[in-house]
Parts: sequence; structure tokens; C-alpha cells
Amino acid sequence: MAVVNPFTSYIERLARAARALGLSEVEKKRLSEPNNIVDTQIELTRDNGTVERLRTYRVQFNNARGPYKGGIRFHKAADLDEVKALAAAMAIKCAVVDIPMGGAKGGVQFDPKQYSEAEIERVARAFIRAMGDAIGADKDIPAPDVYTNSNIMGIMLDEFQKMHGRNEPAMITGKPQGLGGIVGRDTATAQGGVYVLDYFVSALGFKKKGLRVAIQGFGNAGATAAKILSGDGHSIVGISDSSGALLFETGLDIDKLLLEKNKSGELKDTRARIATNQELLETDCDVLIPAALDNQLTVENAPRVKAKIILELANGPTTPEADVIFGQRDITVIPDVLTNAGGVTVSYFEWLQNREGSIWSEEKVREQLKEIMTKASGVLWKKSKELNVPLRDAAFLLGVERIVSAMRTRRAV
Ligand code: GLU
Repeated sequence: MAVVNPFTSYIERLARAARALGLSEVEKKRLSEPNNIVDTQIELTRDNGTVERLRTYRVQFNNARGPYKGGIRFHKAADLDEVKALAAAMAIKCAVVDIPMGGAKGGVQFDPKQYSEAEIERVARAFIRAMGDAIGADKDIPAPDVYTNSNIMGIMLDEFQKMHGRNEPAMITGKPQGLGGIVGRDTATAQGGVYVLDYFVSALGFKKKGLRVAIQGFGNAGATAAKILSGDGHSIVGISDSSGALLFETGLDIDKLLLEKNKSGELKDTRARIATNQELLETDCDVLIPAALDNQLTVENAPRVKAKIILELANGPTTPEADVIFGQRDITVIPDVLTNAGGVTVSYFEWLQNREGSIWSEEKVREQLKEIMTKASGVLWKKSKELNVPLRDAAFLLGVERIVSAMRTRRAV
């Protein structure tokens, strides 16, 4: 498979948006490079006493619209270019859903599956110590991302408190509820994506129930989306995790799969056909939801994708070349910066809740999330029709426009 540098993809998309918006060279340059990068190594003492050094990043891309915001991933592929691309995407994402936050991302480059829980805790604490003064409630607010979760956020909050000697829950989101976390944060990315899908299913004239959906990824986002969508009367005809896929034309039993996954760690259903992740992406369905890693839909498999709608729950799953092919084939790609923005939106609610010293109800979270996701979907749909461009281009234009407008107001460019 051709290797695509995710930051190069971002720069290409930015160049198109910059031309269309008539940005100055200075403005374009400011959006081509992060404001700050923490690029360091943390030392981890393994359970057996040996010491390893792990590459660790925090990229603070842009904070014109609000404090830096974005998750921390623990993954082998989290190199600087990937983290830069994801940080830029966070800035665009927050602007697209119009929440007052900038964009950042963090990463520790290692494979957490090979490490014990105690070792992962030490990595989490070392990450916070390595950040020094770079993070904080008014500065840069981390959150979960690939292979990090609410427990890890709780540990990070604790380490921050030890370092700075104050309880500042708004410095991190996606925390456990007992530490100031918000109800519904765990399901927010998937739930937000479902609100977006509901909007586009109506806008594009698809039936509202009984859609055949294939989902790549059975982590938090993928599994939750599967559960919500099957509960909403759609049929999950394929699902996968990193070890492979299951295909079942008449629809998988998601509750059973979840039970089995929790019990044995495996994706198992004896009725289903075992397949590869590649087969899953090309399976016959109405909606394909990439909910795993980036660069999954490429020039190689795009011609064989059978879905009519691609709902990007993962960050960066489609390469620019694949986008062109989907455009030619009349397949609607609903871009990541809109689809998965429910996560950061509810993170923003959590940050607000911590600052207010209040506790939001589940209903309030759900209602406000729905409002924000539906509104942003409508704005993008309208913009893409008006300009006759794909939704991703409309999202980039809208995001960049809003960020540049904030920079201009500040006289920062
Ligand atoms: N990691 C999530 C994302 O990529 C959430 C970020 C956040 O909540 O700050 O959007």
C-alpha cells in the first residue's frame, strides 16, 4: 500500500482552500506550521527494571479561536508528521462545529498492547511531566484518543495536580465522572457521528431505517456507533478490529459481539464470515464507517468501495487521491472534521462544566450535542452545494475561514 504522509495531505488541502479564499502568503504560512511543538523523549522503567525511551509529542497548532484542544494517542505510528496533521485537523474541527477552541494533538510512539497497566500509568505520568507548563485549563487541554481512555486522563489529572499543587479539572477532558468528567463523553464521538449521518440520510434522500452499514474498528467509536445504529433500526453487515473482520449480510448481533469482546477480547460470531479489513472496506453496503486509523481508503481500494456514503469517524481515513475517486463515483464522503467532532464538542461541555463548577445532565449533553452537530451539518451541506465542492472542501473552507478571521481580528497576520 502506498504510504501517504498525513501532513502532506493536510498541506495539499490547505493550498486548495487558501487559493479559493484568497489568503495572503503570510496567512497561508501561519496555517502551514504549528505554533509550538514539544518533541521529547520520556523514560519508562519497565516492570522488569529495564529503561526505555519513548518519543513523545505535543503539537499546538493554532489557538486563534481559543485554547489548544486535542487528544493524546498511544500508538506506534504516532510520529511527528502524524501528530502535526491531527493537530491541524483539531483546529479545523473545532472551527467547523464553531466551539471556541483551537487545535492540538499529543502522542507517545509505542505499542501499548505490549505493556502492562502499571507501565502505561507510568507513561501517562511521564507525559504530563514532560509537558512542563505547556498545558493547562486556559492554555492547552488534552483528551483521550487512540488507545487512551478516561482512566488515563484521570491519572494525568492527578500528575498535573502533583506537579502544580492545585486541583484544576478543566486542564483535561474525558476524565472519569468522579473527577469532574461529563456524562456521555465516552459515547460522544459515535453519537455525534450518528446525528451527522441522520442529517445527511435525510438531505440525500436515503431511507431513515434499514440501512446496511459496515464499520471498520471496534474500539470506542466503532463499537458505540454499531450499538447506536443497530438500535436505530439499521443493519450492521460488517465490522472489524485490528485482527480481522466479520461479515454477515442480514446483520450482526452487536450486543452479543460486545459481550464476547469483553469476555475473550475477540470479535467472534460463528454465523458470520471471517474476512480481512480490506474485504470489509469493499463489502456491499449503503454506509461505510471507517472508525479506526488513518489512510485506510486509498487509490488502491477506492475504485472497489461499494458504499454510497462514507462516514469518517476516524481521523484521516481517506487519502486525497481516494477522495478524487469517490467524487468521480458519486460517493458522498462526510469528512472526519465534522463526523467525529462530537468527541471534542462534549469535551468542550466538560470544560465548561468544570469551569462553572456544575454537573451537566445527560439530557442537556445530548440536546446540545445534537444541536451543534445538526447545525454544522446543515451549514456544510449548504456550503458544499453553493460552491459545488465536496463536503470535505466545504469543511476546510469553513474551518480555515473562521480561523483566519480570528487571526485577522487579533491583527495576528
Ligand atoms: N481525540 C478526539 C478527537 O480527535 C477528541 C479530542 C478532544 O476531546 O479534545 O477529536
